[in-house]
Amino acid sequence: MAKVIKGGTVVTASDIYQANVLIEGEKVISIGENIDSGDAEIIDAKGCYVFPGGVDPHTHLDMPFGGTTTADDFETGTRAAAFGGTTTVVDFCLTRKGEPLKSAIQTWHKKADGKALIDYGFHLMISEINDNVLGELSQVVAEEGITSLKLFMAYKNVFQVDDGTLFQTLTKAKELGALVQVHAENGDVIDYLTKKALAEENTDPIYHALTRPPEAEEEATGRAIAMAALADAPLYVVHVSCAAAANKIKEARDAGYKAWGETCPQYLVLDITALEKPDFEGAKYVWSPPLREKWNQEELWAALRNGSLQTVGSDQCSFNFAGQKELGRNDFTKIPNGGPLIEDRFSILYSEGVHKGRIGLNTFVNVVSTNAAKLFGLFPKKGTIAVGSDADIVIFDPKAERTLSAFTHHMNVDYNPFEGMKVVGEPVTVLSRGEVIVRDKQFLGKKGRGEYLRRATFQQY
Ligand SMILES: [Zn+2]
Repeated sequence: MAKVIKGGTVVTASDIYQANVLIEGEKVISIGENIDSGDAEIIDAKGCYVFPGGVDPHTHLDMPFGGTTTADDFETGTRAAAFGGTTTVVDFCLTRKGEPLKSAIQTWHKKADGKALIDYGFHLMISEINDNVLGELSQVVAEEGITSLKLFMAYKNVFQVDDGTLFQTLTKAKELGALVQVHAENGDVIDYLTKKALAEENTDPIYHALTRPPEAEEEATGRAIAMAALADAPLYVVHVSCAAAANKIKEARDAGYKAWGETCPQYLVLDITALEKPDFEGAKYVWSPPLREKWNQEELWAALRNGSLQTVGSDQCSFNFAGQKELGRNDFTKIPNGGPLIEDRFSILYSEGVHKGRIGLNTFVNVVSTNAAKLFGLFPKKGTIAVGSDADIVIFDPKAERTLSAFTHHMNVDYNPFEGMKVVGEPVTVLSRGEVIVRDKQFLGKKGRGEYLRRATFQQY
């Protein structure tokens, strides 16, 4: 049966207008003020915004890290995402040296198959470049539809690649139409500073941040941009945390390079002082890159506003405080890195961004949904409300007020880094491919309903 979303204000990356949205099956088939919706089921959106579903380009679900595994898997993580207004995620498929890419991708499919509640795609981590990997990559792009490749410039002796590997990947990616993503921090410098801190018995969570200074991120961001320029390949810098790195991307774009950047809600709202919370609570705020000094926040908002950063990912990577974050009680290097944000990314960005006047509604939609869909080969199926697009839609009440908390969130983790924070605005009804999956604070979709997304190759825009 058809559905019609009535009486709301449709907001896309370019428009804001009153209209009804008619959905048949999985797609939007008509948009307008006076459309003939026949006996379609009416979904009331009076007083609400009608946004495209969020596209989260950066999640780690069911991911092993430092001898433990993230608290959220593809079921709990994607359910929480849906409650928060996100209807598509792109998760990072890890690889290991010597393991065929195909087998790593199979492992990731097994994690998501039959579990995911919203649609999902994969980025592929590159841990080495050799003839086998180069040979497999064209299949990965063409057959698996995995069109983005992630490399780590940090985590020495674990994930970190050398510059040669990065440069060869950029060259190959250009040939295949894939987008290279980098975690840009100088892992060698961080390794040295970390060992020095531990030798001086500086083991508290704050030293996680102090041993990963902004200069290490700025340098690696600049180095990656230089290599991408040399390879004439597009580059996407994940989780930009500070003004210095954001400026590198802006300079590159001003110079005509194909560089894009993502930031995350934690860098827009939280700062380095959180790591100093007593009773080891600072461990809840251990991300890499780390939280920065507060003045960086307005610079990052400005970068989103002026388009020099284009996306906001959650970097969802949840570990319980009890038993997981606690692994690092006596040694900050053993604190699993990351936090739970898949659910609150959308609302934090609306409340701190739109409601507080830092970004406009169109920019909000762009950075929470549209730009990621474009960069990662999902547009216009995802990332907009248009005739022919998937009916992935969030009906959002901009007047609702609520408090973020681990007691009410849907993520499978025992704390919320934004505990007690008041936000304005709430996703009240969420549709994924035409199906109402969240309504009246209930999840209505079936486990495993999410579909794997084969993504298109990179299209420069
Ligand atoms: Zn990440």
